Amino acid sequence: MIPIGEALAVVMAEVRPLEAQKVPLGEADGRILAEEVRAAFDVPGFANSQMDGFGVRAADLAGAMEDAPVRLRVVGTVAAGGPYAGVVERGTAVRIMTGAPIPAGVDAVVPIEEVRTEGEEVEMRAASTVGRFVRGAGEDIAKGEAVLVRGRLLRPADVGLLASLGFAHVPVVRRPRVAILGTGDELVALGEPLGPGQIHDSNAYTLAAAVREAGGEAFRMGIVRDDRASLHAALAEAASYDAVLSTGGVSVGDFDHVKDVMDEIGLRRRFWRVAQKPGKPITFAAHEGCLYFGLPGNPVSAMVCFVLYVAPALRAALGRSEVYAPSISVRAGEDIRTARELTELVRCTLRAQDDGLVACPTGSQSSGVLRSLSLADALLISPPGRSGFTAGEAGTALRIRAEVSPSAANPFA
Ligand code: AMP
Ligand code: MG
Repeated sequence: MIPIGEALAVVMAEVRPLEAQKVPLGEADGRILAEEVRAAFDVPGFANSQMDGFGVRAADLAGAMEDAPVRLRVVGTVAAGGPYAGVVERGTAVRIMTGAPIPAGVDAVVPIEEVRTEGEEVEMRAASTVGRFVRGAGEDIAKGEAVLVRGRLLRPADVGLLASLGFAHVPVVRRPRVAILGTGDELVALGEPLGPGQIHDSNAYTLAAAVREAGGEAFRMGIVRDDRASLHAALAEAASYDAVLSTGGVSVGDFDHVKDVMDEIGLRRRFWRVAQKPGKPITFAAHEGCLYFGLPGNPVSAMVCFVLYVAPALRAALGRSEVYAPSISVRAGEDIRTARELTELVRCTLRAQDDGLVACPTGSQSSGVLRSLSLADALLISPPGRSGFTAGEAGTALRIRAEVSPSAANPFA
């Protein structure tokens, strides 16, 4: 039995980076950028107006005051998109719209709310400064500037930046292809009736969803019976994937054949059993570019192992620099008892209080109770040598919800 940290280091050392592929920009959100992106041109590409108003020469307005206005002759109009052919000479102004290119001669924009128009003339009642309400070329992004780093998870605003830079396609890292196998004679596919002693294969669905959340592509390969020949065939078929997740059959029961079959195939298993609860009987091998995770069958154990080992490995294969579940400081919301001889991960909700986050167990910590994981925001870490927490005691927890939860409270109400 090895500690979690050691098992995790073994897994991470076997991760190989995946190659890049080009995808249309419209499909790039949620993907990982494979190369640094630099701007091929300035954004905006030209100086333009930040306001609807009048383009002027700031020097013309020197000395303009409420009771000593300056009058300028309006010589034309420039709309967004439309160039203005002429030069704005001294003593004149152009009507200009937001986003319209700044004509030659103009060096400031006076918003329409600040002037009075009279026929072909406009009256200015205050001085201006050069550059006022003018967005300079390259103000958002300068040509040659590094805009997005390699390994970045592309979010909506990033996609917009890439669009403004003219990228119709972007290089992203190929998604890892992950095969998922459920093992067990008691398992029945969804849609089929349950006989006595039978259960639905829920792990395949939990894990497929988790794979997608981590950025991978999930392939449910179906249910494998608890016999060596079936396991042999299934593992051999899965070898072409980037990773294989099997669940069940890795413990010490009479029908737990996964370890033996992995060994027979020649997958060099790197560990079996980690000093953790839940998820102790996990085994792992890496062979010819494929990572094999023999996850325990208990639904919570399988998912906790996914969070601890599989998700970081998938993120690393995707070239992300941040791969681990974030650890946070919390206080126990109640007395909690844990197993002293290993690292126990307690499923908890998190509640924000004035003096920090409070973690409360979500109910039964049995490794078969998936509901307590479904309710959990975090896993409170109880390291070896610790037999629990008293209410209020400080600890560390892993956040296991990837998304930022929307709030029920309207922040502007
Ligand atoms: P095992 O590790 O094969 O002994 O399985 C441990 C427990 O997890 C048993 O109660 C199994 O019935 C259950 N189990 C195994 N595989 C799955 C699965 N794919 N979906 C739901 N429960 C499972
Ligand atoms: Mg089994």
